[in-house]
Order: sequence, then structure tokens, then C-alpha cells
Amino acid sequence: MIYFDLKASFIFTKDVSDLYDVFDNFFKNGVDKIFLKNSEIGVSIEDFNTNGNKLKIHLKSNQVVRANEALIRLKKELSNLMGFEFKIGVREVLIDFFNIKIEVDNNVNIKTLPYVKSIDYDGEYINVTFDTESEQKLTFSEVEKRIPDRIISLIKSKLADYGGKSEHWELLWESEDKEFEFNEDPTETMLNEGWIKRGYNRGQWIYGTEATHLFRTFEKIVLKELLEPLGYREMIFPKLVPWEVWMKSGHAQGVYPEIYYVCPPKTRDPEYWEDVKNIYNITKEVPVDLIKEKIDVPIGGMCYAQCPSFWGFLQGETLASDQLPIKVYDHSGTSHRYESGGIHGIERVDEFHRLELVWIGTKEDILEHAEILKDKYKHIFEDILKIKWRTAWVTPWFMAQEGKFGLSEMEGAGTVDYEALTPYNNKWIEIQNLSINATKYTKGFNVKSQNNKVLWSGCSGVGLERWAAAFISQYGLNIENWPKKFRRYFKEMPKGIKTL
Ligand SMILES: [Zn+2]
Repeated sequence: MIYFDLKASFIFTKDVSDLYDVFDNFFKNGVDKIFLKNSEIGVSIEDFNTNGNKLKIHLKSNQVVRANEALIRLKKELSNLMGFEFKIGVREVLIDFFNIKIEVDNNVNIKTLPYVKSIDYDGEYINVTFDTESEQKLTFSEVEKRIPDRIISLIKSKLADYGGKSEHWELLWESEDKEFEFNEDPTETMLNEGWIKRGYNRGQWIYGTEATHLFRTFEKIVLKELLEPLGYREMIFPKLVPWEVWMKSGHAQGVYPEIYYVCPPKTRDPEYWEDVKNIYNITKEVPVDLIKEKIDVPIGGMCYAQCPSFWGFLQGETLASDQLPIKVYDHSGTSHRYESGGIHGIERVDEFHRLELVWIGTKEDILEHAEILKDKYKHIFEDILKIKWRTAWVTPWFMAQEGKFGLSEMEGAGTVDYEALTPYNNKWIEIQNLSINATKYTKGFNVKSQNNKVLWSGCSGVGLERWAAAFISQYGLNIENWPKKFRRYFKEMPKGIKTL
């Protein structure tokens, strides 16, 4: 159960102190219909009084009709009543006190929330008391914008994933077992042979000619076996992602711990940067604290999920029906993720390379195309790379974040994770995924079809580092041991750079 306790004041344009009986009659006889939902009344008016041009009212409710919702309805009804009969208007609604008690089994770890003065757990209820006094207080405008409802949703979603990230994982398919000739850590092996070197940044690698050729071979295989036959067209998606994109894609709800933030300079006036230049030139140290003062707030972050910034191309547009489904891909740059600390190999990196596929069409188009893609991937992993791999049905990121399982319009949405075995540690790593995003992006970016059919989309990200980690850990670096069809694509091993 959720209980609401709300005190508010209606400020009228004229004195209403001698209209007590009018309000009394209205609250006794006129409010039922606005406090009613599914023939249940959830709200009660505890008391009210008038004083000058002010009507103070105390509402209590359960979740049937939330007190904040009741207040919005009351304002409308009172405006009608007072305007029609007495030519008096509602000038303002003040929130004097607002508390919500949510009955729970567990506490949630939320310490601060906007517009909230305190949030605590008393063993039975989470008590949310809104700030109704300070500069950051909750006003009627926030009530109208459904801020209290969003706070309840947020607490509920935290409660839902209480008990650990018990995300759904269900095995769909697994390839036949195989003998591995190789049993080493792929990163160590490539490092030892000079195929890769550590970059200067955490989780960043410099790929030498051999490793780069391996990546390009993976891309060529996807191009020849999948993208070209299925009619995909190449695009270039931006790699610096402003907040607006993530607000529309939904990433703005939770991406913060993992992104690399991008801050522009406050000005490009050389004068403004003179001291920084001078300090560096004299001390030979970059004055990062000073730079911190001279750069602006972050405008967004580096590419994280790759496909969101594509959608700016279609935002607000209507697609001609005869070109659906649309199939495009991008492999024009890096993606960045602030990974957990410690040293990881190429299977967990802060800067990575991914080929991203996006397809858009009707629901039927999307589901049908996902099956075609799955067949193509299967062919690649089984017949060309010949690796030990499996697929699993997992909670898609947008559902994990928003808990949208209940929405019927999202039925059929979901993510397939592709995993491969790394024999040296007998672990499975995710090498790519395939997501049916339902209306997640088409709605977020307001993309419509000519015939008004609901548009869905899907996307699939092929992780080149992960493919390399899987392939090398199962086969090693000796080209002689690699599968024949793969070698046909790979052709010659390029010369590496020798150092002394
Ligand atoms: Zn995507």
C-alpha cells in the first residue's frame, strides 16, 4: 500500500472567507466523481478552512487516486465552480506539506532525491517527505509535471531489483563441444608476440598490423556473409553523444557511472588559455586543476551504445512504406566505457571497436529479420570461425532499467547475447548481441511510417575485441591451426613491426 498525506492552500483572486458553506457543500457532495476511480474512492478530505483569499485543505489518500492527482482535479473543479458562480479565480496553489508512505519489505538505498526533504525507512514504510520550504521545494508546477509519481516509480523500480542484479539469463542454444589445441590467455599471447601493446589510457590497446588485420578480417566476413547479402547500407554515426540523444534513447536514466564525459572549453579565445600554456611550458606539467576550471559542463559523452546517435537522422520523420525494412550499419569509430578498475585483457576494455547493425520496420519485419540474422551469425560461428559458442536470452538493457516487462506493446522485445568460451579460464565471454528494441527508439525519436503502422527496430553490435579474444583463445596465433574458410578470408599475415 501507498499512503499520501497532503496539505495545500488555494489562493483565490478575492476574499473567500464567507464562502465556507459553499466549499463545505462542494466537498460533501461535489467531489466524489473526481475522487473516484474504478468506483472506488481513494481520497478523503480530512479538514479545510478559509481565511481571507485562502482555502487550506488537508487530503489523505491511498494509491487508488493519489492525493497529488486529486489536488490537480480539485484545482480544475474549484476553478470552474468559483469562476462560474462567483467570478473568482484560482491564482495559485501552494503545497504546504506532502508525505508519502510506501509499504515495503526492504529498504532501498536512496539517500537524496530532487524535491525531497527526507527519505527514510522505519522497518515497515519508506517515508518520503517533500521539501515544501526551501528554494528547491516542490511546487504545484512539479505536481502537475507528475514529479511525485516519478519518485514513486523510481523507488518501486529500485525495490524491484532489490536482492542483487538478478537479471534474466536463459540458455537458447549451444554449439557442440570441441577439443582445444590452445589453452592460453589471448591477451598475454598477443602481447608476447607483439600483436598488441597497451595504450596510455586505462583499458586501451594499440593494435599492431597483425591484430588489426584480424579485426578487418572479422569485418570482411560480416560484410560478405551477412551485410551485403541482406542489403545493409553503410552509414557514419556520430561518436560524440550529447545529452539530448541519451534522453531520447533512454540511456540518460542510468548511463552515468560508465561514460566518458566530454567537456568543451568555456571559450576558444587564446588569451583565456594563456596561463595554462605558460604553466606547461615552464613546469612541463599539464595544470589539470586549472583546466578543470576553464572547461564547461559536460555536453554529453563519448559513443557508448553506438546506435542511439543514428536516430537523429530519422527524428520526427515519416518513412516511406516501400523502403521498409531499412537496414544500415556503422563501423566508423570507437565506443568507450569506463570499466571497473584493475587490469583486464582485450575482452574488457574502455575503448573498443564494434560493428553496429540497425534495422527498422514493422513488428513483423523486425522479428523476421532477427531470425535471418541469427541464421547468418550461426553460419559464421559454425562454418567459418568454427568456435565454441552459445546464445542466451537476457533482459534487454532498456527493460532492466525501466522494468517495462508489463507493457504489451513491448511484447516480443528482448536481447540475445552471444557468448564464446575462453578455454584458458573456462569462462564464457559475451562476444556480441542482438536486440529487438520494439518501439524503444522509434517512439523515443518520434519516427513514423507512411501508412501509420507502428514502427519497431532492432540492433546488433559485433564486438571485434570480443571476437578476437574468443577466436585467439580457442585457436592461438599460429595461422596453420586456424579453420580453412577463415584463412581464406584472412589471406596473408601482414608483417609486424619488429623492435630490438
Ligand atoms: Zn544498438
